[in-house]
Amino acid sequence: MTKTVIENCKIIDGLGNASYPGTVSIAQNKIVKNESFDRAAADEIIDASGLTLMPGLIDVHCHSTFDEPSSNDELFFHRREGLAAIVAGQNVKKLLQAGVTGFVDPDGIFDVTIDLRDAIDAKIIEGPRMLCGGNALLTSVGGTAGRLIPDKGLRGYAKIVSTPEEIKTEVRRQIKNGVDWIKVHVTGLVPRQKGKGEIQAWSLEELKLVCDTAHELGVPVMGHCRNSQSIKDSVEAGMDMLLHATFMDEHALEKVVEKNIPLVPSFTFQANLADYGHRVGANEDLKEIFRKEIEESASMLKKAKTAGVPILCGSESGFSLTPYGEWHYRELEIFVSDLGFSNLDAIAAATGMCGIHAGFNGDTGVIADGKFADLILVDGDPSQDVRILKNKSNIKMVFVGGERVDLTPNRERNPISGWRVSEYSSKTLTQETSGD
Ligand SMILES: [Zn+2]
Repeated sequence: MTKTVIENCKIIDGLGNASYPGTVSIAQNKIVKNESFDRAAADEIIDASGLTLMPGLIDVHCHSTFDEPSSNDELFFHRREGLAAIVAGQNVKKLLQAGVTGFVDPDGIFDVTIDLRDAIDAKIIEGPRMLCGGNALLTSVGGTAGRLIPDKGLRGYAKIVSTPEEIKTEVRRQIKNGVDWIKVHVTGLVPRQKGKGEIQAWSLEELKLVCDTAHELGVPVMGHCRNSQSIKDSVEAGMDMLLHATFMDEHALEKVVEKNIPLVPSFTFQANLADYGHRVGANEDLKEIFRKEIEESASMLKKAKTAGVPILCGSESGFSLTPYGEWHYRELEIFVSDLGFSNLDAIAAATGMCGIHAGFNGDTGVIADGKFADLILVDGDPSQDVRILKNKSNIKMVFVGGERVDLTPNRERNPISGWRVSEYSSKTLTQETSGD
């Protein structure tokens, strides 16, 4: 049994408690209580002077199979199953390099999420501890990709279900194949409702059927919800976690508080677009919409937190605006700046709270006896400023299940044939713009 001692470090436990100086030991894949550990029996002693030991980050909203598309066209029509799996196997290493030792992938293309998780579990590839959904359930109204979503069948990450029979069959199919979560796209965009944001695309009865069918088989359900009614109905239907949960009114908040349903605001994508969109040629209208989503939703989420609702960090990594390994820390930063979290609370929202509330059974996300040794050693003290986690060179060591991870950066990739969608141009070439 391999035994490692990490000593002389500052320890952040992942539960929101103040940091303290101490020693942590690892035996095989678990953390061992200091007092019961014999230092002389250690195989390796790590002197971590000046460093902070904390649970690795858990990102509860990361799409590991998308490979950073810059459009829905690319995501839905230009990915191939086998190659997506191979590429995802490389991309998850970038999560480790950024200090992410666990993540939840809500939905993926084909069945790649399930295969990726099993390959990580089997140690065929190195990656963070992973839980996954399969294909997101959509009604024929669609989600956020408009007419790209067909009336039936599978497209990209979306499985369209219309009848109660189809709903039950699909939920059971996914569970048979091994998903940890069922994901429902409860709201979606409809063209003539423009300006009203996303609208609810499911009836309460349909949502109940999803939840009942999944729960009978012991699998939790999460919903993508971007308005009050969808939040109310999702809670009523029995959902176990809500992604976004934005534009919530008082009544929806009451329901969430009453059932204590974890929320994953996933503001990083919005904040990245609002703050840096101009640097990458993003659409100006979207910039406004996304900044507004954060501003308008912050007060309700603050109230939810005060009422004890678990608010979890999820970065929505996997798109061109949220590439793997770059922005996982940012949700913590936003929780501090926009939701009034302390640095320690933000860390707990990205570690211990996720371990408890995102399906990991409380086995990871904290530094405590008997938990998985999913740990990072950080140069500096994130409990003073979570932005220390932004700089990957501050992540000195990463352990997943007690095994130290290789942090060597991935090789530079060449373009993959037919993988990215090229745009003709980002502007229209009129005679005026031609400059002639
Ligand atoms: Zn998402």
